[in-house]
Amino acid sequence: APPTKPNIFTTFLSWVVPPLIFILVLQFFARRSMGGGGAQGALSFTKSKAKVYVPDDESKVTFDDVAGVDEAKDELTEIVDFLKKPQRYTDIGARIPKGVLLVGPPGTGKTLLSKAVAGEAEVPFFIISGSEFVELFVGVEASRVRYLFKKAKDKSPCIIFIDEIDSVGRQRGTGIGGGNDEREQTLNQLLTEMDGFASTEKPVIVLAATNQPEVLDAALLRPGRFDRQVLVDRPDLSGRKTILEIYVKKIRLASGVDLEQIAQAASGFAGADLANMVNEAALLAARGKRTQVEQRDLNE
Ligand code: ADP
Repeated sequence: APPTKPNIFTTFLSWVVPPLIFILVLQFFARRSMGGGGAQGALSFTKSKAKVYVPDDESKVTFDDVAGVDEAKDELTEIVDFLKKPQRYTDIGARIPKGVLLVGPPGTGKTLLSKAVAGEAEVPFFIISGSEFVELFVGVEASRVRYLFKKAKDKSPCIIFIDEIDSVGRQRGTGIGGGNDEREQTLNQLLTEMDGFASTEKPVIVLAATNQPEVLDAALLRPGRFDRQVLVDRPDLSGRKTILEIYVKKIRLASGVDLEQIAQAASGFAGADLANMVNEAALLAARGKRTQVEQRDLNE
């Protein structure tokens, strides 16, 4: 057969169509990897990672859920009052505190206490960890702080809780290589925001937790910022007993368990350790029970 003369139309097709398909496929994958949202995916970097809790009747944490830290509770009752009736204080011309620093070892209930303040005052609760602030994208963190405060102001009265504030709030200019620029920017932005909001009728109160207040930048502790410190220490004997009482209510307890004795043996335990111990005991009991049942099955 004579060779078919290449016609211009098929040549055109063979040159243009495959690259076109290739480009379309590439584009499809590019879209997908950006999370579908195209430009939106890129912008969401600037959004805050903060989580918001709006206390409702079921999830609400109150002061009754926290035990063994009575002094801290007393001091925070005042904050609850500020959040509930700000006018009472502003009428006299008093300045509502903006920041409270909760100082104490890990697991002593600082987060829980802050949630309880929000629960008692029935206001929304923003939670963000200091280490989440410090991330790789230069310049993003400062805008994240700004965004968080803007959100909070919209929802005021409310509480912002910053966990591990020492990871952003370290003294500026210290550390290896003279400090971390990114962190300093974040800290500066935090300070600006705290100075910026006027605590009139719409209070936003910032609670922050740390276990090493001595490394914090002095600027953070100035009046008008975190000028109050509340010590949240490990519970004493009666504190440990009341914490145990809270947690054994959630499990089935054998008769003859002496909580007093357990509390005595658990000296140095923080609230989280005690909660964990009760749970471990329950797990052990469940496992023991299962082996008993299995034994019985074998014997039958
Ligand atoms: P922190 O923020 O001080 O590290 P958390 O508030 O996160 O500690 O405590 C962790 C968990 O331990 C809480 O969710 C709670 O179950 C328990 N817990 C800690 N302290 C107490 C306390 N004083 N009373 C009751 N439960 C506590």
